[in-house]
Amino acid sequence: MSPTTTVSNLLERNQIYSQSHTAIPTVAEIKESGRSAFKTLIISCTDGRIMPEKFLNITVPEEVLIVRNSGARARPALANLVALDDMLNVENVLVIGHTDCGARNFNEGAIRARLMKRAPEYKDEIERMQFGKILGDIEHSVRDDVEFLKGSPLLREELKKNIQGFVFDVQTGKLKEII
Ligand SMILES: [Zn+2]
Repeated sequence: MSPTTTVSNLLERNQIYSQSHTAIPTVAEIKESGRSAFKTLIISCTDGRIMPEKFLNITVPEEVLIVRNSGARARPALANLVALDDMLNVENVLVIGHTDCGARNFNEGAIRARLMKRAPEYKDEIERMQFGKILGDIEHSVRDDVEFLKGSPLLREELKKNIQGFVFDVQTGKLKEII
C-alpha cells in the first residue's frame, strides 16, 4: 500500500524521524575539523525515485552537493554550480540523468501557451524559460549537457577537466558512463 502523502502525515513522520536523528555537523564544525567537504557536485533529477545518496552510498553527508532539477539538466543548474564552486572549490561534477525520466514528456509549447494566457505581460521571460525537456534519448541529453558545461566560459578551466556524465538505470541500479 502506498503511504498517505498529506502535509500533516509528512509532519507526523518527521516527528518520528526526529526521535532518532543525530545532529548533522555544522559548516563551522566541518571547517574546524579541516576535513575535505563538498568537493563533488552532482546534477540529478527532481524525481523522488532517483536518490544519489542511496545509489552512490553516500554515508558522510558533506561528501557531496546535489543540485536537482527536472531532467538533471546542466543549463538551469549553471548558476548554482558557479556559486557553489566560487565558495567551495568544487573538484568534480557528475551529471546523472536516468532512464524512464519524465522530463522526456514535457510539452514545452503547451506550457508556454498556458503561461502566456496566465501572464501575457511576462512574454519575454516566458520565451526565455527553459523547462528541461529531454529531446531524444537520455544518453544524448547527458552528453549534450556535459559538453555545454565544458564549453561554458563561466566555469573554471581546471573544473571543466573533471566533468563527467552518467545515466542511472532505474531497473538495474547501475550507472553507465556516457562521457
Ligand atoms: Zn527524471
